[in-house]
Amino acid sequence: MNRFAVTTKRPYNILIGEKLLGDSGTYIRECAEPCKICVVTDSKVNGLYSQVLISSLIESGFQTSKVVFPEGEHSKTISTYSNLLEALADEGLSRSDIIVALGGGVVGDLTGFAAATYLRGIRYIQIPTTYLAAVDSSVGGKTGLNLLSGKNLAGAFWQPSLVISDYKTFESLPESEMLNGVAEAIKSGMVAEQSLIDHVIKKDYAYVIERCVSIKKSIVEADERDTGMRQLLNFGHTIGHSIEKLSSFSISHGHAVAKGMVVEARAAYRMGLTETDTSTFLTDTLTSCGFDLSVPFSVDDLYRYALNDKKISGDTIAMVVPESIGKCRLHKISLSQLRNFISLGIEN
Ligand code: NAD
Ligand code: ZN
Repeated sequence: MNRFAVTTKRPYNILIGEKLLGDSGTYIRECAEPCKICVVTDSKVNGLYSQVLISSLIESGFQTSKVVFPEGEHSKTISTYSNLLEALADEGLSRSDIIVALGGGVVGDLTGFAAATYLRGIRYIQIPTTYLAAVDSSVGGKTGLNLLSGKNLAGAFWQPSLVISDYKTFESLPESEMLNGVAEAIKSGMVAEQSLIDHVIKKDYAYVIERCVSIKKSIVEADERDTGMRQLLNFGHTIGHSIEKLSSFSISHGHAVAKGMVVEARAAYRMGLTETDTSTFLTDTLTSCGFDLSVPFSVDDLYRYALNDKKISGDTIAMVVPESIGKCRLHKISLSQLRNFISLGIEN
């Protein structure tokens, strides 16, 4: 097992390894006295992993309860959140108790937001069971839910007290879900560390999770000093988000980001913003991982949705351009150039 310390205001550990779930109680006891623990999970993960977790918690002297909501993004709503808060209150959870998020990014984001707001904030622990949650959403402290107007529009920053990443749980993940994590990990490699991409291809999960969380942590910390560096983590996401929304979310996040990275890399090169064309490398790598890189939408549709991007300020947008594999920088282009940028990116 690898133990990795995150030195935020309230420092916490990330544990990365195989078969950690059955010993979760022991690891949680290292940072908490016996107390009540409410395990929050979704309907799919519940049947797979909640029993082994709860047995371990009981063995370590914790008093347990469980809240389960239907799996999937459509559960990331105010009504699930409000039911969750009511359930925590019904269980009599106090400020000294703990909530454990067992599941993917949906469970982690919702549970984190409930933890941030219940009794004005109680401790929570992330046990990510998807590759995407392990490499991305379980770190950084962003919690929240979707509003009818859009994704992640309500939320809070609230850091976990512990993250237990047991990559043995990925064995039950469908391949298409695994690829969501693969895309985000390759993105981290493109932004900060070329050699990480080889480890992603080799499925070296322990290494990949540790490097991804470390890269995310250092970029997020740099952004606290207002450098705008956090936006680098959005490589592939301007076009990726447009693709995700245009498909009504039938193309999931990582798959859309994979397509977005190729389009943005190709466009940056063809527009003369980078000297190296990294899109060939990206196309080969992502195709060999199993991604379909076709973009079944028009330039105009992609452009219309890209105009909602959070990286727009005034009449410019900060695009993340890959100077080389492992090094990206921000480059502002005017909104009038954005349509041409997209057009250069999607033409073969
Ligand atoms: P998810 O939580 O919906 O999980 C995907 C599916 O896999 C679900 O059906 C789930 O039940 C199932 N599942 C989970 N673990 C499993 C396992 N081990 N075996 C079999 N099935 C399993 O989605 P996700 O891809 O993990 O996360 C996506 C969410 O994360 C989005 O809502 C996104 O906004 C959020 N996100 C947040 C951040 C952040 O910084 N907070 C970053 C990236 C993404
Ligand atoms: Zn992403």
